[in-house]
Amino acid sequence: MTQSFQGPKGTFDLLPPDSELWLHVREAMAAPLRTAGYGYIETPVFEDTALFERGVGESTDVVSKEMYSFVTRGDDRVTLRPEGTAGVVRSAVQHRLYAGQLPVKLWYSGSFFRYERPQAGRYRHFSQVGAEALGLDDPALDAELVALGVRAFADLGLREVRLLMNSLGDATCRPVYRARLQEFLRSLDLDAETRRRVELNPLRVLDDKRPEVQAQLADAPVVADSLCDACRAHYAAVRGHLADLGVDWAEAPRLVRGLDYYTRTTFEFQHDGLGAQSAVGGGGRYDGLSEDVGGPPMPGIGWALGVDRTVLAMRAEGVEAPVSSRCDVYAVPLGAEAKRRLLVLVDELRRSGIAADLAFGDRGLKGAMKGADRSGARLAVVVGDRDLETGVGQLKDLATGEQVAVPLDDVVAVIREKLT
Ligand code: AMP
Repeated sequence: MTQSFQGPKGTFDLLPPDSELWLHVREAMAAPLRTAGYGYIETPVFEDTALFERGVGESTDVVSKEMYSFVTRGDDRVTLRPEGTAGVVRSAVQHRLYAGQLPVKLWYSGSFFRYERPQAGRYRHFSQVGAEALGLDDPALDAELVALGVRAFADLGLREVRLLMNSLGDATCRPVYRARLQEFLRSLDLDAETRRRVELNPLRVLDDKRPEVQAQLADAPVVADSLCDACRAHYAAVRGHLADLGVDWAEAPRLVRGLDYYTRTTFEFQHDGLGAQSAVGGGGRYDGLSEDVGGPPMPGIGWALGVDRTVLAMRAEGVEAPVSSRCDVYAVPLGAEAKRRLLVLVDELRRSGIAADLAFGDRGLKGAMKGADRSGARLAVVVGDRDLETGVGQLKDLATGEQVAVPLDDVVAVIREKLT
């Protein structure tokens, strides 16, 4: 027997009818952005590996442990994108978008790849919808973007998404905080790997989930106490705008996030129904990222919402997703001539906006009617070869079982009337 295959570990296939929910979530996340001037951007699924090393940061888990990197046949080092911001910023720099009208507002939707330990809500191939606003450091832009994320979750019917906010400071005050934090962390009783992290990426130590580490962090300095005046004013303005917009949030002085490029406003959308994970989305400012990847000064703010985890959150809250009936009318031909006629009828129905399907495969009446029931259609049209002579077919209401004879020439109009 020849070998059969399974999808790779940490991935899953999206199959109908569940796949409709993923489409619905992506559309609901994008809809608020489209009404706010965000244009759709698509960048390659792979980029130069160095883009992520320099952008996301070599000391992060994402870059040091989780990237799908390989050398191409042409000896280029490339990586399947683990996140969307670096590629969008690369593209904005390459195409000099910063030279036009600011801010540049962009949104994307697509697949991302991280070699993580798979578990509920954590996959190696996952789906995000993201948004980036480039070129300005206006705090109103931060508030607008955060509010658009809040809207997306609310429009999906989710009621238990929490917004956590923090400010991480900038190139002036962050190094001061980093040094203060390092000094504190060096005094703790930590294992060798965590001590290494203290030197490389001390802010990430705050994120350590282990109770024995958390217990020692109670008195750790918080970044809010080290913010410079400019960052303090910026964050105060963001909060003011968010309050004006009626957005609720909780201050999270320890929120740091896993990517190095964040500055100033940082936030996460959390939900408790995901199992081991809690983040359904996150983002923040990255005012130095463009320069880190060789571009001009170009501040930016963005978020990425996890589509797969949002679906988990919806299931946890028991949110009903609108299921679009895939089929309104099911056509059942009995004979070759009837099939020719009904294939055309089905095409006519679809052109007039009615979802229709046909019993393919030359099944008998019983088998075809089973297909009609399974299709979820409300109406079935049954036509035999002999009916073509009289020009009259049978229209059956699949819910009530009621059946009426309808002239084939009128059938589109009759169906349209019955469906409205
Ligand atoms: P991040 O870039 O890590 O802030 O991720 C943004 C969002 O993408 C997270 O809040 C998750 O909802 C989602 N996400 C990140 N990594 C994964 C993963 N491995 N599997 C599923 N969703 C993920």
